[in-house]
Amino acid sequence: MQGNLAIYNTMLRKKEKFEPYNPPFVGLYVCGPTVYGDAHLGHARPAITFDLLFRYLKYSGYKVRYVRNITDVGHLVNDADEGEDKIAKKARLEELEPMEVVQFFTDRYHKNMDDLNTLKPSIEPRASGHIIEQQMLIEKILEQGFGYESNGSIYFDVEAYNKKYPYGKLSGRNIEDLQGNTRTLAGQSEKKASFDFALWKKAAPEHIMRWPSRWSDGFPGWHLECSSMSRKYLGERFDIHGGGLDLQFPHHECEIAQSTAAYGEDPVKYWMHNNMVTINGQKMGKSLGNFITLDQLFSGDNDVLEQAYGPMTIRFFMLQAHYRSPLDFSNDALKAAEKGYNRMMNAVASISKIVASDKSTVDVDTLEKKCFAAMDDDLNTPILISHLFDGVKMINSIVAGKESIDADGLAKITKLYNDFAFDILGLKQEAESSSSNDETLGKVVEMLLEMRTEAKANKDWATADVIRDKMAALGIEVKDTKDGFEWKLADK
Ligand code: ZN
Repeated sequence: MQGNLAIYNTMLRKKEKFEPYNPPFVGLYVCGPTVYGDAHLGHARPAITFDLLFRYLKYSGYKVRYVRNITDVGHLVNDADEGEDKIAKKARLEELEPMEVVQFFTDRYHKNMDDLNTLKPSIEPRASGHIIEQQMLIEKILEQGFGYESNGSIYFDVEAYNKKYPYGKLSGRNIEDLQGNTRTLAGQSEKKASFDFALWKKAAPEHIMRWPSRWSDGFPGWHLECSSMSRKYLGERFDIHGGGLDLQFPHHECEIAQSTAAYGEDPVKYWMHNNMVTINGQKMGKSLGNFITLDQLFSGDNDVLEQAYGPMTIRFFMLQAHYRSPLDFSNDALKAAEKGYNRMMNAVASISKIVASDKSTVDVDTLEKKCFAAMDDDLNTPILISHLFDGVKMINSIVAGKESIDADGLAKITKLYNDFAFDILGLKQEAESSSSNDETLGKVVEMLLEMRTEAKANKDWATADVIRDKMAALGIEVKDTKDGFEWKLADK
């Protein structure tokens, strides 16, 4: 096992050596999407961040159980436990059964995740499939004296909890600050205090998503599902809980409070959060008119976009930033990422054409050590990518005949890019992934080039040049070689 990984532990606000409770097994829980709309730019970052972690842990020899939930009930339009359920609202507007909405958007989410080349989680539980587990957790919390009933709904008693355990330790908030922020709400709600949160909500008569309970016909509060399902599938204590920074408070803080209230301790060893994506410096939001879905990114069909961006460009763009740094989306940044991605993929593709020499003038071992060191340093992908670009220079120099590499070095550099670019960063040659369009294009180009070879064989230089020049005008670069020709799409 390659076990030098250090990760940032949000709770302790420092990096520490990753040591799982029960090696080689690693329990990883990541908060998944609420499936009431298309996946957007904001969904891509946690998906890619925790896919990277999942890939690197597996690469390092761990056996990882990766649980990522689907929220299909309980997430209200307004996070203050008021308003309609997001899925129920969509179902009402579209005149669908709520589970049709869930299925439709879950399928679309999975398609987008496949496009981004993220690996499937080991288990993908749905909140609506774990109502009994959630009700049992509520019973435990009530038994311990940290919940109360109000008009058929059950709320978590933050003040009672805070007397025994520190509420807010993950996000660094404290109950006094929260009180100050929200005093105006007190008295207008069935909650004792505005910072109390729902464990069970009594369903209004028109609310279609409802389950029976001894308190009321209703539905579970949003934070409850992750506490219940992580315990069910990963046990009393597990290694890593991930999610976006926007979930740190209140969602993860409430998860910690629920589990600690019921069982006396936070089951999570390492809390990890990816930072957010902004668009031209602004938060993304429907009201700001800068909301971009992943399908729109891939097709270019959004006024914010100057062109379409392939899924691998998006993936590369996100990996160029450290997961804990904020990341600003702009057309310029995306175009630069596209160029960088193409440059790397062209170099990787050219490795297979290298012929080994008797001796090496390049040092692959040092490059490899640096790549591992970058990943082990809290998944430092921007540094890893800069090392991989040093390798690109190396490869291009060898291809150009300025440097040489022996058979051993060639085997190592081939493995290095397979491991780091493909297995760990999860990139792939975009053309591979796509469509028969690309295959057809390839065949047409080959056909034109055969015609050009034939023209040259007949000493018809004029026709040969016209074919080459017209292809160049279409962005296809042709290079004559000893054994015929090579072609590639020119960098945009
Ligand atoms: Zn969650």
